[in-house]
Amino acid sequence: MANNNKNYSRIFKLIYEQDTISKQEIALQLNLSLPTVSQNLKALLEDNLIRNDGKFKSQIGRRAVAYSVNSENHISLGLELFKEYVSITAVDLKNQEIAFDRRSISFDLNDNYFAELTDWIKAFSQKNGLTDDQIIGMGVGIQGLISFDRKTVLYGKILNCTGLQVSQFEKYLPYPVSFFHDADCVAYAEQDSSDSNEDTIYLSLGEHLGTAIMIDGKIYSGEQGRSGTMEHVTFDLNSDRVCYCGRKGCVETYVSISSLLNDGESITDFMDQLKTDKDVQKRWNEYLDYLAEAVNNFHMFLDNRIVLAGELLQFVDDSVLFDVKDRIHQITAFPEDDPYLSFGSVLSHPVASGAALPLMESFVDCI
Ligand SMILES: [Zn+2]
Repeated sequence: MANNNKNYSRIFKLIYEQDTISKQEIALQLNLSLPTVSQNLKALLEDNLIRNDGKFKSQIGRRAVAYSVNSENHISLGLELFKEYVSITAVDLKNQEIAFDRRSISFDLNDNYFAELTDWIKAFSQKNGLTDDQIIGMGVGIQGLISFDRKTVLYGKILNCTGLQVSQFEKYLPYPVSFFHDADCVAYAEQDSSDSNEDTIYLSLGEHLGTAIMIDGKIYSGEQGRSGTMEHVTFDLNSDRVCYCGRKGCVETYVSISSLLNDGESITDFMDQLKTDKDVQKRWNEYLDYLAEAVNNFHMFLDNRIVLAGELLQFVDDSVLFDVKDRIHQITAFPEDDPYLSFGSVLSHPVASGAALPLMESFVDCI
């Protein structure tokens, strides 16, 4: 790709921002001569980044050719890697999901697991007509902390996968693989689906609690990559609730979905019984108190918007949001002028979606 050509990049980005645009309009908007625009359009067409999308309909006289991004020719994959299942998504150059699948498979560090998993990924690509050339890479959302180069799991106690390397995937796949912290993925997915660019704390309410801080459109990870692990802030040192991190009384043990459920109970069972079962109602009421406490605490670290995201969103509506806000109102020490708490909007597989997005963003940035 002609990355070193500034006009090539400017023209691509203008086409990227528009649905369709004519050569004349590009020349006008970027203040370039028509021959310069033509030359770069030719190069972009040759690189399969744009396509000739027919002609504009409503023009009088000679109709101008419409150019648009060849979005389906460049795909990034996102994988959610959980203990009992994996989900995969494929997104195009414009961040639109073009395919999705999910499979039950128990996580294992054994090489057979990675062979089986990558076979399934290859079959997914094939089924959806994606060639290896089209795929720019795969992001994997992991419940753990990831090295800065995105190649190693630094801390993976939930899956017991500390030290896992992307090479375990890459030896079976012909494109690069990067790891992402699952809570960061949820934050990417939520930010992509929202119109707001405000700095935000994301609480991902899934089997486990995940937290991420987004500042200036980027995940804030601190010097050692450990910022945004607020799930291990402790509520109560004398608590008998043991966290997977080894400590007691972490917010994780009060606010994660697993903290809400009894052994063997699913969140679907729990929600089905919420209307009728007194014990379930009592647990839900306590859970919402702890959630309000957590949100109120985190808001004191950063006076920013807080978004509740993740799996729990599938089971709650705005009445729960109002309820949590009301609980916060009862406990907060400071008057809150602005309503800072909201629900996210990505209901399905946010980790997989969010794992695919940063790869595509850096691909587009580098054009
Ligand atoms: Zn902990």
